[in-house]
Amino acid sequence: MAPGAWTVTGIRAAVAGGDLSAREVCAHYLDRIAATDGRLHAFTTVLREAALARADEVDARRASWRDRPLLGVPIAVKDVICTRGVPTTAGSRILAGYRPPYDATVVSRLLDAGAVIVGKTNCDEFAMGSSTEHSAYGPTRNPWALDRIPGGSSGGAAAAVAAGQAPASIGTDTGGSIRQPAALCGVVGLKPTYGRVSRYGLLAFASSLDQIGPLTWTVADAAAVLQVLAGPDPRDATASTEPPPDLSRLFPGNVRGTRIGVPRVALADGVDPEVLDAFGAALAMLSDRGAEVCDVDLPHMQYAVPVYYLVAPAEASSNLARYDGVRYGHRAKLDGAAAGVSEMYARTRSEGFGAEVKRRIMLGTYALSAGYYDAYYVHAQRVRSLIRNDFDRAFAAVDAVAMPTTPTPAFRIGERIDDPLAMYLGDVFTVSANLTGLPAISLPAGLTQARLPIGFQLVGRPFDEATLLRIGDALERDAPWSDERPPAFA
Ligand code: GLN
Repeated sequence: MAPGAWTVTGIRAAVAGGDLSAREVCAHYLDRIAATDGRLHAFTTVLREAALARADEVDARRASWRDRPLLGVPIAVKDVICTRGVPTTAGSRILAGYRPPYDATVVSRLLDAGAVIVGKTNCDEFAMGSSTEHSAYGPTRNPWALDRIPGGSSGGAAAAVAAGQAPASIGTDTGGSIRQPAALCGVVGLKPTYGRVSRYGLLAFASSLDQIGPLTWTVADAAAVLQVLAGPDPRDATASTEPPPDLSRLFPGNVRGTRIGVPRVALADGVDPEVLDAFGAALAMLSDRGAEVCDVDLPHMQYAVPVYYLVAPAEASSNLARYDGVRYGHRAKLDGAAAGVSEMYARTRSEGFGAEVKRRIMLGTYALSAGYYDAYYVHAQRVRSLIRNDFDRAFAAVDAVAMPTTPTPAFRIGERIDDPLAMYLGDVFTVSANLTGLPAISLPAGLTQARLPIGFQLVGRPFDEATLLRIGDALERDAPWSDERPPAFA
């Protein structure tokens, strides 16, 4: 069977039915990682022994675990999510060697569901970036074109799924970090509503924006993984107390009468013509299936990038204060008794953090400092409310808002690394879903002439991931590109 043909739902059924053992499945993916990761570098840690031992445990318990929703399914987890006893680096030198003493809630839920964790995936340092080039452990490459970035910050998670190294991975999305790499690697990426999935055990970047979600080949697989991740958690006070609906009942997705709004910004100058063509083609397919496509007005969305790049660094500057060399991770070696604790903090942080993280800490500290707080931070929060009001108004008339996920396909490694502004502007279509807390999905929408993937994004009403999955499934069923795989990893 072609590696990419193994899906979450397919593997679960095969293991539960006794057609494949969890060990066979796990060994297949581990072999695939061993054969391909030298070229891709999607993983920071591969758990070969532990994953096989876990697969054996799944096989031994198959009779009593038969109903578990991810029985024997290998999953890769982004390296900003805590895994007990397993290195969790956040792509940073400051956490080199750190092994958390506990599992994140999402990890416990995956394990309870019968999943097998195969490894930790590479990411931009503390999830700050759009290319995975800001990892202290070196960049990940795009499986569709090895000289290009896979997107970020969950670049390893997206590349792993695209290259058939895992049928699903878990990413995080603060300003697009699930959807943008999913788009650039040609897979499905879902950012749930803020509060749908517990953030307990996620190394915080910007706490009012961060969400955890799945990257998969198919929409049905994204639903299956979200079903396991979602739900109340007493350990995260921002997790919704509403249990998620049964997402398996949505399929096959029917879009007859579903209203999809298109904001003018989606079609603005600066969007690559091939991205616009693919966007139009996806809308046409949905309207052929009975969806009603219309215009919506989101007048404040043009401010989303500047607002995001004030709010996210402000929160990051506070969250990252904990990396001080005292409690965990790297500590600078100081010689001489004269060196005091302040010098230890300063040296630890200077050595431990990379350039992009330092830039964000400085921007955030500036925006929060006395005298600038009202002018920058408070102002940004006000505009954030206006953006949310725009979406609320739009959702009175439509069921989902459609936009491209990114203005361009994957760029070359090195192309934007020295131009932070160019890197930030690429987030124009993704950050508003985080600022508003709304759920959003990126779906494959075909390939450019040069065979680079393009993403189609839908944003939904609060806690209405179901509508996004239903529309996504309808698109996937019609799409001629659903069986496309990166040629070098087919
Ligand atoms: N690219 C955005 C940033 O650099 C988003 C990152 C993310 O979602 N974690 O902040």
